[in-house]
Amino acid sequence: MVKWAERLVHMANQQNLRGQSLLFKCMETGFVTTAPALARYQTGRGIDPSRRVLVGPKPANWTKARPYLVCDRCGAKIHGGPWDMAQHKKSKRCLRYGLDS
Ligand SMILES: [Zn+2]
Repeated sequence: MVKWAERLVHMANQQNLRGQSLLFKCMETGFVTTAPALARYQTGRGIDPSRRVLVGPKPANWTKARPYLVCDRCGAKIHGGPWDMAQHKKSKRCLRYGLDS
């Protein structure tokens, strides 16, 4: 493995130590994700954030397994659903924002 790739892996491992290395499941819907993401998920749906159970350690390939949509205008990967995609297209984070007449 080349040096810069080793650095990336090292940085990723350090980020995992900051509380995102465990997966939790929402007891209401069965949705599984990391603690910070599940807090946002449950808050957004009016679910009590305490209604979660620990699933276990996050697999190394978890970020790759996360579902995402690809913006048909700029090619960006948008994590979430159609609502998140619509928000992306309306925002300046979309690289083609403002280019369409
Ligand atoms: Zn876009």
